[in-house]
Amino acid sequence: MATIQEEIHKRRTFGIISHPDAGKTTLTEKLLLFGGAIQTAGAVKSNKIKKGATSDFMEIERQRGISVATSVMTFEYNDLKINILDTPGHKDFAEDTYRTLTAVDSVILVIDCVKGVEEQTERLMEVCRMRNTPVIVFINKMDREGQNPFDLLDELEQKLNIKVRPLTWPINIGSNFKGVYSIYDKSLNIFNANKTKIEKEVVAVDIWSEELDKKVGEKDANQLREDIELIEGVYGDFDRSVYLSGEVAPVFFGSAVNNFGVQELLDTFTEIAPSTQARKTDVRIVEPEEKKFTGFIFKIHANLDPKHRDRIAFLRVCSGTFERNKFYKHVRLDKNLRFNNPYNFMAQEKEVIDEGFPGDVIGLYDTGNFKIGDTLSEGELMQYQGIPSFSPEIFKELMNLDPMKSKQLEKGIQQLTDEGVAQLFVQPHLGNRKIVGTVGELQYEVIQYRLEHEYGAKCRFDHRDIAKACWVTSDDEKKLTEFVRLKAQNIAQDKDGNFVFLAESEWILRMNIQNNPDIQFHFTSEFK
Ligand code: GDP
Repeated sequence: MATIQEEIHKRRTFGIISHPDAGKTTLTEKLLLFGGAIQTAGAVKSNKIKKGATSDFMEIERQRGISVATSVMTFEYNDLKINILDTPGHKDFAEDTYRTLTAVDSVILVIDCVKGVEEQTERLMEVCRMRNTPVIVFINKMDREGQNPFDLLDELEQKLNIKVRPLTWPINIGSNFKGVYSIYDKSLNIFNANKTKIEKEVVAVDIWSEELDKKVGEKDANQLREDIELIEGVYGDFDRSVYLSGEVAPVFFGSAVNNFGVQELLDTFTEIAPSTQARKTDVRIVEPEEKKFTGFIFKIHANLDPKHRDRIAFLRVCSGTFERNKFYKHVRLDKNLRFNNPYNFMAQEKEVIDEGFPGDVIGLYDTGNFKIGDTLSEGELMQYQGIPSFSPEIFKELMNLDPMKSKQLEKGIQQLTDEGVAQLFVQPHLGNRKIVGTVGELQYEVIQYRLEHEYGAKCRFDHRDIAKACWVTSDDEKKLTEFVRLKAQNIAQDKDGNFVFLAESEWILRMNIQNNPDIQFHFTSEFK
């Protein structure tokens, strides 16, 4: 039996992120293929929202089905246990991605070599930089006529605010793409476009030897020598510790659809990526090696079958050993809970487990006890941090269209917002008016559809002139009460009962911040 220490060192829990279409799904699938977890390509379905799909609702359901199946993909490789956490690329689901990133120890960022750094890439990287998550960059689609690799590296450094260090280097690009040279282990991988089979020709070569000329031709050999010299001069030696501290991102080049550059990425990743890391709670930092179990919920998924109202809560184990049928403390509810069917996700199949170790993601059936961000422990009162709600970008009022179904609507909107589909703000002074805040229009369609199909409630969303929501606090309780009373029209409460100021415009918000120096305005819900 492995010790807990060994279990921790075996785990590599990471997320793959990209702007839609850069090749995240393809790369995920190829990692599973090279890792031996699947035998054929085509097994991993894209969780993308297709444009112009027959019906948006059908599309949402299709997407939900896929995202349950691909939320976590686990496989064993070189005696390691690899957990890939899937993230939606679509920007309307960005909050879901941000939350998933709280549960990983490192990230692989996929970039399209033709398009370079795209808008969504920048936002995702900001979240990684906030937490100093170690990042590896995979520059994909090298079989296409992309940008010059040196220009791409400059663009990464400028737009993503991180230093880079190439660990492989392409020999040509597009139709002349001949392969990649691994600077990390000094070997050459000759390109052989093949979409279905893994065909490799990896040879160790000294780049100064004549063998290189024989393999790739004199002209390309000389270019490679020049490039490598330049890289070593400009970027210096690769230092794993600065990668682990999130300061430098190693860069790989390849073509995922052609199985190219994936083996180098996987092998180097398993060597350098961090195993389970310590995590912050509101009271202290928790080390994975600690004896007592702790963990938090970072994602909640409703059952796809509307007849079954139970949900799946995704638990990230942070310390100790999680055991089936043992009672744990649900810190927020101050309640003891146990789980008789916890499961893990071995390459898309569910399997009931008896134990889970730090770094693992475990699926728990939930009948409504969990909200995103909830902590489980063996009794210690603590709350894992880093899962704030961000100020939404769009606000609409929820209008009940069927007064006979008010209860269903109430319950439905509560549960959907617990799942993190959107944020609910209730205005107690305005007859409990319900404002739903999101980061994208698509969420309103999702909510409306699910309320009707899962809860039998009909609703409409009316636009409200709100530009920003800020959480408000004060060191002086009286001043806060006074502010809340005076601004009743603009005050709402979030799911935890915190006061939120809803501002009609940025200007009004600024005026209120200026005129109320005793009140603190926060742009995320995590301000304790
Ligand atoms: P995602 O939205 O990031 O998950 O992207 P997908 O993995 O679905 O890929 C988007 C499109 O790019 C698909 O049509 C892929 O077949 C294609 N693609 C992925 N990798 C490569 C590659 O290395 N070269 C080329 N030419 N196309 C690729």
